[in-house]
Amino acid sequence: MRRRVAHLAAWMLLSASALAQFVPAEKGRPAAPPVRDQEIAQCLPGEIQTWGDGKDRPIATRSLRFAYRHDNAPPWFTEAQVLALVKRSAEAWSECGIQLRVIAVPIGQSPPEDAIQILWSDVGSRGQFALANVTARSLSIGPGLFALLRERNPKHPAEQTLQMVLSHEMGHFLGLMAHSRRCVDTLSYYDNGKGERCALRDPKSWGSVVEYRSMLPTACDIQRCRALNK
Ligand SMILES: [Zn+2]
Repeated sequence: MRRRVAHLAAWMLLSASALAQFVPAEKGRPAAPPVRDQEIAQCLPGEIQTWGDGKDRPIATRSLRFAYRHDNAPPWFTEAQVLALVKRSAEAWSECGIQLRVIAVPIGQSPPEDAIQILWSDVGSRGQFALANVTARSLSIGPGLFALLRERNPKHPAEQTLQMVLSHEMGHFLGLMAHSRRCVDTLSYYDNGKGERCALRDPKSWGSVVEYRSMLPTACDIQRCRALNK
């Protein structure tokens, strides 16, 4: 229960950052600072820290299978496009030492029982961009919030938001339940709701990009996952 609350909080913060960008963005906006790229590529000693808002648990298997259902997806995302994003996140996480496979579920068909279902559902995502229900083995993406993002900020590359939320939620299925305190981690949580902000190597780089989180797992996300599931 507590975990679910933590999830909701995380995505409320995320929605705020992606939705707040009303200005046509990509033109004239400075490129992501190089320090962010370094933070993505390299995990320094002592940088793995969480908010302590969940208990990490190694998973019981060496392989996971995700089954993507395109039913109810917003019409501006094609099935091939979303499937490619799911595969990209799965491939990046496989650096953890767990095999992550992805299959597509044909419209109207049921996913295989052993698979974690990835589906579009506002009920399942509870009005957030996405929500992992580890017990029910489902990863729900919220069509409603993606519609709002498109309405508020049509120039925002929604594909990047989708990639990031897929990577984030997949991390929970790998047993990483606590959110990272390192802003750039795909599993991060920008603040704890008590005025404490996530950590950056260069505090000045905060605000330099709309979404500081990485779209794909960072070196620290992977290192934490490997240590947990070794
Ligand atoms: Zn989360």
